[in-house]
Amino acid sequence: MDEDFSQKALVALHRMNCPITIDDNFYTINVAVKKNINNLYYFQCPFCVTKRKRNNEPYVNSKPVIHIHGEELGTRFPHCDERTLEYYDLPYFEFNLVDKTSFVEYKHTFKKS
Ligand SMILES: [Zn+2]
Repeated sequence: MDEDFSQKALVALHRMNCPITIDDNFYTINVAVKKNINNLYYFQCPFCVTKRKRNNEPYVNSKPVIHIHGEELGTRFPHCDERTLEYYDLPYFEFNLVDKTSFVEYKHTFKKS
């Protein structure tokens, strides 16, 4: 059975403490945001990194990429780049910008229905 999120993706989300919620087969990934000096919300992407190898593996010394997403909280279409989406084999999802996320513990994986 296929899983919508690869183990790699789940590990990355767990590391950055980003819970997934599912509603009507629609995935949102909750990310805790901060505001920059221009009063725009931003977060460190759980997936995107500054440098990838040819095979899309992140380099050890690569850093998480910051995504800036406007002035309001709520769901947003991801700005993740193509290589990231490929590497994690990500399903369609949106980021949900929130003040803070609760501690993430994955007891189950998400399956296609
Ligand atoms: Zn990203």
